[in-house]
Amino acid sequence: MEELQKALNEKNLSVSTNPEKGRCLFTTHDFAPGEFIISENPYVCVPSKNKESAGLKCEWCFSSKNLKKCSSCHVVWYCSSYCQKLDWKMHRVECQCLSKVEGERVKYLTPSIRLMVKLCLRRQLEYDKCHRQLQAGGGLGISYPLVFLLARHCAFLDIMTHVELFDFNWFIHQDMADIDEKQLVLYAQMANLVNLILQWPDSEINIKEIAENFSKLACNAHTICDSELIPHGTGLYPVISIINHSCLPNSVLVFEGRLAVVRAVQHIPKGTEVLISYIETAGSTVTRQKALKEQYLFSCTCSRCIKLGQFDDIRESAILEGYSCKNGECSGFLLRNSDGTGFICQQCGLLRDKDDIKTITTEVKLMSEKASMFLSAGRYAEASAAYMMIEKLQMKLDHPFSVNLMRTRETLLKAHAWFFCVYPRFHPLLGLQYYTSGKLEWLLGDTEEAVKSLTKAWDALRITHGTKTPFMMELASKLEEAHAEASYKLRPRNDY
Ligand SMILES: [Zn+2]
Ligand SMILES: [Zn+2]
Ligand SMILES: [Zn+2]
Ligand SMILES: [Zn+2]
Repeated sequence: MEELQKALNEKNLSVSTNPEKGRCLFTTHDFAPGEFIISENPYVCVPSKNKESAGLKCEWCFSSKNLKKCSSCHVVWYCSSYCQKLDWKMHRVECQCLSKVEGERVKYLTPSIRLMVKLCLRRQLEYDKCHRQLQAGGGLGISYPLVFLLARHCAFLDIMTHVELFDFNWFIHQDMADIDEKQLVLYAQMANLVNLILQWPDSEINIKEIAENFSKLACNAHTICDSELIPHGTGLYPVISIINHSCLPNSVLVFEGRLAVVRAVQHIPKGTEVLISYIETAGSTVTRQKALKEQYLFSCTCSRCIKLGQFDDIRESAILEGYSCKNGECSGFLLRNSDGTGFICQQCGLLRDKDDIKTITTEVKLMSEKASMFLSAGRYAEASAAYMMIEKLQMKLDHPFSVNLMRTRETLLKAHAWFFCVYPRFHPLLGLQYYTSGKLEWLLGDTEEAVKSLTKAWDALRITHGTKTPFMMELASKLEEAHAEASYKLRPRNDY
């Protein structure tokens, strides 16, 4: 711990303990917006295997191109001998274990199981005094005991006690409100599996320790995302774990490959706590608190959360998760009216009928089922079309700045990306995507971007749609209009 404190001091940071939050990371000088605060390589990490990022990934850099299997274990993949070399110190020991996993059992090597196997192996390497080698490259002096010492939030203490009870008695006490009984059974089963893969003699590490580690990992492992926030893997970043959560954070955590990087997003004066958000911040206070409670087992008391129920908070929540005004031109937010027959616009006073909302909601639900069915069947063109329909419906239903709408657009973009992975050739949907983005940018007042998107749409669509169809004529006139507006906006001020 002292070693870590020293390393952090050199980076103008320090760790302190707060009775409510546990460990906190503080600045010891001013940080400007965008300034680098700290970075950390994972203690251990594994690529993910979820549906969204279908297929395999390089064990070291998460790339999915030019992959080759490790010739001894046939489990791990690399994009190059360069990545394989970098991973070798860790994989050398892992490979021996993985090679012994036979036949059907290979399918049990899920990312969480593999992460735990790696964690146990790294612990062993340290005990064998090999860890100096592993930390080459100027680490922060993180060791296995420190990984868990730094594990975030006191809620773990509860879990640990529960696991202990579980282990000694093999039955569940009734007072275990916080953690699911099924979850504990699962952790024990997973621990057994890890033990089976490791094939270590009993004395090396016991199942109880592994099960405990699983419970701690559940809250401490970070999802490694790329710059487009697509998840690529899971890793343990003990120092980053010290950083606490705020729904109005002053810093942001991003990943550059496997490296976790924290940057300031606003001016952080000397002596301020560094705060990042663990969850999607674009959500109502109730939604955010629910997510934090479920995933991280704590109740947030940040400056945004303490406003729960105040006017500002109600307005924000209604914009993020509420309905749009019946008058499409009005951007007011809606609140439920007193007799429960509908929602009233707080700006123009128009009533939006409950039944109207219900009808569109049902349509969205049906279309969403269809869309995800298409997606899982790999029918990306149909999925894209379905998500476009959902977007249209949601534009009628939700506030223009709603999170639902944002999510649909995100999925739509991904569906397009997948579509183009499968059919790399040109397709009209790409043009339509540009068209939609262009219209949106225009709506949001970014005329210049709108012109760019609409031009791309025009270039793409004229090939598939010709130039004389009514749809294309409409696009042409929109583009012209946007052009005019953009050049008007760009005119120097002294012109008028
Ligand atoms: Zn690689
Ligand atoms: Zn191997
Ligand atoms: Zn909060
Ligand atoms: Zn209104």
